[in-house]
Parts: sequence; structure tokens; C-alpha cells
Amino acid sequence: MGFKYETHLHTSNSSKCGRSEGTEYVPYYKALGYDGIFVTDHFYLGNTCIPRELPWEEWVHRYCDAYRVTKAAGDAIGLKVFFGWETSYAGEDFLIYGLDEEWLLAHPDIRYWDQKEQYEHVHADGGLVVQAHPFRERNYQTEVKIHPYHSDAWEVANCGNKPYQDVLAYTYAKEHGITMTAGSDIHRAAGSDNGCLFGMITDAPLNSAKDYVDLVKSGTGYRLNVAEGWHANRPQNPWFDVFCYNEDHERIRLAGEFFPGAPTAVDPH
Ligand SMILES: [Zn+2]
Ligand SMILES: [Zn+2]
Repeated sequence: MGFKYETHLHTSNSSKCGRSEGTEYVPYYKALGYDGIFVTDHFYLGNTCIPRELPWEEWVHRYCDAYRVTKAAGDAIGLKVFFGWETSYAGEDFLIYGLDEEWLLAHPDIRYWDQKEQYEHVHADGGLVVQAHPFRERNYQTEVKIHPYHSDAWEVANCGNKPYQDVLAYTYAKEHGITMTAGSDIHRAAGSDNGCLFGMITDAPLNSAKDYVDLVKSGTGYRLNVAEGWHANRPQNPWFDVFCYNEDHERIRLAGEFFPGAPTAVDPH
């Protein structure tokens, strides 16, 4: 039992890589028995399709249209639709929940914040910062960069990730007591990159994005909605060395030191 939520979803209304409109996800998730979804399109420095040359007010308004039309469709058939967004720092991504359009309008400086400033501002105003797919390895990267100090939680299951990357994130989060979340990172209403659908299962229904923030910060009353045995997949060492951002940018572990004796991931270049 429980209430199912999608926490990581991209629409073609607002994300360049989105393949389905927000309204198409509504019947899709409703039919799958989900209670709600979060629309988390790529933000200003990410893969947005809203022109960046627009004045900030206009940019934010157009960015939020994806959520608005999706929510209207959700209201019509009884699927909850909540707002969030995904920020990008050249390969490091963060999901932000619990703040709204008004907050964005009042914080045009968000475009220039680094990861630490983002965390401090969002946190101070009651929002939640989740590092998305922290151990993802892609050809545009040269290292894995983790931010345990600039996030409230980590997304340890992501349907755009290879299983070993989620196993790494899950293992590290477990070792270090980092709160965990799961999401599909879905780009089309027909399914996710790896064929799974992830998300969160809560004991009590959520009635707002703020409810979700409070729940994750409390650390109880929910579980990850992931494929059976997903985190029991065969461990593999990352291809890149792992850097942790604290006050410094510190190399915490060489790639091969993660799971001694385990195979190493293939070169993503
Ligand atoms: Zn995308
Ligand atoms: Zn995403």
C-alpha cells in the first residue's frame, strides 16, 4: 500500500529534450496508478527550450507554463501535479522542490549561483535540493562530482542511468547516511530510457510540493519505488575518479578504489 509519485519528469513544453507534452503524462501516470507527478523541466542553464534572451519575468512565466497546463490536465482527471525544476552545472544536476514561480521571480540571481549558494538560498526558504543521478558518467564529463554538502538528498535510482551508476550512488549514500530518493527522469510518456519507472511511495498522500519537502527532510514515511533488485546489480567501479565538493574540490576516491576487485565501467567517451 501507499501513494505513488513521479519525482523527475521532463515535458516538451519546456525541456529541449522532452518528447511528450505535459498533458500527455497525465493519463499515462493516472493509468499506472500514480497519485501524482512533479514536473521538473531543465532550468535556465540546462536543456531549456525557453529562449534565454527573454527578460527574466517573461522567461520564468514561460518556463512555468509547462507546469500550469499539466496541472490543469491533472486537476481535470484527478492526478496531482506539483512543481519543481532541475538545475545544471555542466554535468551536475539538482532537483529543486517546494518553491514556486513567485519565488523564482523574486530571485533572478539564481542564474549566477554556484552549488553552495543554491543550497543555502533554497534551504533557507524551505525548499529541498536533491542531487540528481550523482554517479552518472557521460562523455561530456571528466570526473564524477558529488555534492553531499550541497544537497538534502540524493537520487539513487534514475531511469536514465546504467544500473552500476545507481549502485554506486546507493552504496555511497548508505555508507554516509545520505537521504535517498528515486525518479524516472522520464522524457516521453511512452516510458523511460531503461524501461523502468521509478519514483517514491509515501505512507500518506501528498497535497503539496511542501508536503514532499517535509517528508524527505523527515527521512521517514516513504520508500523508494524502484525495480526489484535494482541496487543489488553487480557492482562496478566508476570510469572517472570521484571528487567531493566541500569547501574544497577534493578527490576522495580513485575510480578503482570503490569496489576493490570489481570490474571497471567502460570509457563513456
Ligand atoms: Zn533531458
Ligand atoms: Zn532530468
